[in-house]
Amino acid sequence: MSLTRSPENIEKDISNIEHALLTVSEIRSSLKHFTDIVQVEQKGPSFVQSFSDRLKCVRRDLNTLSAEGENLKGALEHAQVAAIENKFNWNLIKSLIEHHHHHRSEAEKEAAEEEIRYREEEANSGKAKEVGSIVKSSANHAYKELSSIVLERKSNLTPPEPLFFTKYINEWLTENKATNADLSVIFEKQEQQTLCGSTCRIKICTRKALVADLELEYERGSDTLVIHQYDIKSVKEEKQSWKDSQYLVFQKVNLLATTAFEDMLVFFAKEALYNILNWFASYRNLFVSPCQRCHKLLQFDSPQYKYLPPMVRTWAKKQPIHQNDHVPIVHSIGVAYHMRCFTEYKNNHAM
Ligand SMILES: [Zn+2]
Repeated sequence: MSLTRSPENIEKDISNIEHALLTVSEIRSSLKHFTDIVQVEQKGPSFVQSFSDRLKCVRRDLNTLSAEGENLKGALEHAQVAAIENKFNWNLIKSLIEHHHHHRSEAEKEAAEEEIRYREEEANSGKAKEVGSIVKSSANHAYKELSSIVLERKSNLTPPEPLFFTKYINEWLTENKATNADLSVIFEKQEQQTLCGSTCRIKICTRKALVADLELEYERGSDTLVIHQYDIKSVKEEKQSWKDSQYLVFQKVNLLATTAFEDMLVFFAKEALYNILNWFASYRNLFVSPCQRCHKLLQFDSPQYKYLPPMVRTWAKKQPIHQNDHVPIVHSIGVAYHMRCFTEYKNNHAM
């Protein structure tokens, strides 16, 4: 490398220094943003995303600085030699700065001048060093530090464990895809984490049969489900009149659901959820499937309800513990009964 620097060389050096200084200030600001993100108390759902976005900024700026450090090498080597010989021509440098900054803002100019002053002090005290390589090695060090933070954080933050309902409803839908082609489950209110579990509101639609709105809560501690509210309607209800027979059918289904849910929720949370989904899925053949007991489709229910289809579907129920010599009655699930036929069936089987 030539030990003489032409005014053009020096002007280029100044421009390089200025770039490096701007990058340093950008690193400062991206590090500040990054630190703010990491230190924030409430880590919202977008935390992981902003964390990695901010880290990318820091990395990008460090890489830029590292490249700029390389550009500065020539100038710094020259500065070191000049410092040893105490041969700095500051007047020339300053006039070049004025020239270079002719069209630049005052702030940028000051920053570059400050750097020159800093290096002048360094040079005068005979301690001129390869600032470029120092910057580069600190950048590498900082980068390594950051990488280790990321790896540590990664194990804590990703992948985020899906919440209870989101996880098991998806699992149930996947497992039962073939049999429940006509069924859909929609999150009316996205699942939200609470102190002791999570809550959500879902809508279960069985094509040609029913729509169920359910407000659900999962309690992690006891591993149980709670149904806070439910409403079961006909898919066609909006088109039909208030006193329509279908409306009456669903009045009965709503009443029945009270008893059914009590039995279905005795199970642990995942099984309870599956019970509920299976039960609603079993209504897909409402108005089509005849009664298991009388084998008829319509039955005269009462003067109020008149003729009704079998609107009972049997549900999961914990069997009482039997003695060893007793074979427990395993009742099938999702079987259609008329309301009165179901009552008789229960009485006969002491359910
Ligand atoms: Zn019947």
